[in-house]
Amino acid sequence: MTPPDRKNPYNFDEYIEWRRNVDYYRDDPFIQKVVKSICGELWEQADSAARRISPKVSFDWRDMSQAIARPENRPYIQHYDAHRHRIDRIVRPAQILTMEKEVFAEALFSDRTHPWIKLVKMYLIYQNGEACTSCPLVCTEGLVAVLEKFADTPELRRILTHCKEGIDGDFGMGAQFISEAQGGSDIPSNLLEAVETDGNWRLYGNKFFCSATHADYAVVTAKPAGSDTVAMFVVPSWLPGDKVREQRNHITIDRLKWKMGTSELPTAEMTFNGATAYPVGPLERGVANVVGIVLTLSRLTVGLSGAAVMTRAAREALKYAEFRQAFGQPIGQFPMLAGQLDWIAASARRTTAGAFKLYREFLQLDGGLKGGLAFDEKNEQMNKRRFDVRELIMLQKIAASWDATDVLRAAMSVLGGHGVIEDFSDLPRLFRDAAINELWEGPRNVLLTQIYRDLQRVREWYPPAEFVDRILSGTDASVIRQLSEEITELILHADLFRPGEQAREICARWDKFCHRLVHEYQDLAAAGIEAGNT
Ligand SMILES: Cc1cc2nc3c(=O)[nH]c(=O)nc-3n(C[C@H](O)[C@H](O)[C@H](O)COP(=O)(O)OP(=O)(O)OC[C@H]3O[C@@H](n4cnc5c(N)ncnc54)[C@H](O)[C@@H]3O)c2cc1C
Repeated sequence: MTPPDRKNPYNFDEYIEWRRNVDYYRDDPFIQKVVKSICGELWEQADSAARRISPKVSFDWRDMSQAIARPENRPYIQHYDAHRHRIDRIVRPAQILTMEKEVFAEALFSDRTHPWIKLVKMYLIYQNGEACTSCPLVCTEGLVAVLEKFADTPELRRILTHCKEGIDGDFGMGAQFISEAQGGSDIPSNLLEAVETDGNWRLYGNKFFCSATHADYAVVTAKPAGSDTVAMFVVPSWLPGDKVREQRNHITIDRLKWKMGTSELPTAEMTFNGATAYPVGPLERGVANVVGIVLTLSRLTVGLSGAAVMTRAAREALKYAEFRQAFGQPIGQFPMLAGQLDWIAASARRTTAGAFKLYREFLQLDGGLKGGLAFDEKNEQMNKRRFDVRELIMLQKIAASWDATDVLRAAMSVLGGHGVIEDFSDLPRLFRDAAINELWEGPRNVLLTQIYRDLQRVREWYPPAEFVDRILSGTDASVIRQLSEEITELILHADLFRPGEQAREICARWDKFCHRLVHEYQDLAAAGIEAGNT
């Protein structure tokens, strides 16, 4: 019996106080176990680096991420200064400028930062959502990787140093502008034109989705005049000395998009009016290099950030379910909700374990991915390992980004109506960001189709059943048998493009199959961690 009380004393203080003091690393035994079992000899260093940065991420950067997400703090564009100069200044709140400086000062892509330390720091940083840092970080990582391979001029080498090691304490930031109005998935349909005069390249035309618009440099795809092949360029936003004058490199920012998620991050529509551009890598290998180097890293990161936001959602939903009462008992004790909470927590654990395991496999590839489809007669095992990692990166991207929205929606519903109140909880913002993660860096259908094609292309030397067997080695034999039989049957279909009922049915089965395959891989990784395997 609850008698009336006009002074209703109810408050959320206990929950809010707990949430305010949660340290993302110190208070998460599972991620500590993951680091210990997966990071190999380096685990102690990764663990102490994570403990050092975690209070900064969990308290200072968390608060800044919340503040910059408020509608009144969204970025906007100022096209002209007071003296009739076109400047296209992106105006962002002071908190983001501070946070960005601090995050980039971590020198995550420097030679002095081991990849495991980078990864665990990124995992913590991503728990704050996009926050105008996740996208620029991964774009910078992609730019560094491309330049490490191809920087062959003083200009490109300077850009590499700026982004990787910093110059006088200032770290350069990268972006990637690939998508155009007529196509994002279909990169070969790019129309941006690259014109060479006396060895100098300039770009003309439009790009339609340019995130991290405020970055110093961008990887840009364009077609050399008269050619139908996409090449890759690095384009500085300002030429040396022009940034202080706010005079852009013959680029105008036409508009900032109004987006559902990642709202703190500027995403622009741009026109290139003769921007100076530096070609990177062979001109005819633009698509291969963008996909093989830049997008591969972004896709790995989408997997990791899916794990990070699910971890945060699970933590906050589980605690709320202990705190909140309904009908006289904590809501977490209702079997209906308890089951949902178990699923939320298991999803976060499996995605985290899978992301770290896959990253280890990626790091262990001697010589990198090399496209992942290369066939070296002398090294059959390495061919297969490369292929496994290439496919798992795409598989993880589609599953983790999809699961993240499901998990966040479920976590929001644990908080009931409060779960969708933006200044009560960060979960709605993380949910909106997660919906974007699912779209960029290769939408689901495009990746499902690519994986299917890859398996068909290699089946002579790597039958699909063997692929399943290898990536799930250690899983229950009956599961492997069932999945091997199904993949063999599915891959027999000629292609996924032929219109008709049969292709639709195969596509639907392929979609479900791939999602399940990732979950089996992730569950295996999580079970290994729980069992203390290294
Ligand atoms: C907030 C935001 C920020 C972005 N920032 C950037 C950025 O900084 N740089 C950048 O280059 N891009 C950026 N993008 C663009 C993003 O990468 C593209 O939206 C994405 O690649 C998809 O391209 P599209 O939008 O043209 O869709 P489309 O390619 O037209 O796809 C539409 C639908 O068709 C499906 N489809 C396409 N091809 C196939 C196929 N072969 N088989 C089956 N189905 C298919 C897709 O899966 C999708 O469902 C951003 C997007 C968003 C939403």
